[in-house]
Amino acid sequence: MGSGAGAALRVLADMDGVLADFEAGVLRAFLARFPGEPRVELAQRRGFSVREQYRGLREDLADKIVSVYESPGFFLGLDPIPGAIEAMKEMIQMKDTEVFICTSPLRKYDPCIPEKYKWVEKHLGPEFVDRLILTRDKTIVSADLLFDDKDTIQGVEPNPSWEHILFTCCHNKHVELKPPHRRLQSWADDWRAILESKRRK
Ligand SMILES: [Mg+2]
Repeated sequence: MGSGAGAALRVLADMDGVLADFEAGVLRAFLARFPGEPRVELAQRRGFSVREQYRGLREDLADKIVSVYESPGFFLGLDPIPGAIEAMKEMIQMKDTEVFICTSPLRKYDPCIPEKYKWVEKHLGPEFVDRLILTRDKTIVSADLLFDDKDTIQGVEPNPSWEHILFTCCHNKHVELKPPHRRLQSWADDWRAILESKRRK
């Protein structure tokens, strides 16, 4: 790993909503399992928590949507976000760049955690399995950049070392970012320029 001591740019990429299409997967599985129930279309998604939005629709739907994403096969079956695999494979080859996947597993961690490992191995290969960080608190992980679709990332560290780049997802499209906060609209957007902007001159 790495080249010059301390010279490498360290990048964290979140998994759900950035590499793996959690939102499309949860809606698809909900429709298959509860076809007669009201649902939230992706264009109507607001707020990070899909569970809370379904709760707002009807109280008992919260447990139903949770049962969908806690089911065996759910995480492993998620489709990659368009361009994510190509971007990660390009990024890991970049000079002076260290890339890691930083993901928060469900509290009900089984089968979520083994399926996250399997997903990474299947779509990105074994070199990324070595680069998987699982934590419920991303603020204590040290890096230059964090690409994440969660609009507010908090934890025990009030001043995380990374700059959070909000990765656009159906649930955060309408969140207004105050400068200097930045977004990446998709993997077709200029993620390379964001990396370059963080390199020590
Ligand atoms: Mg996410």
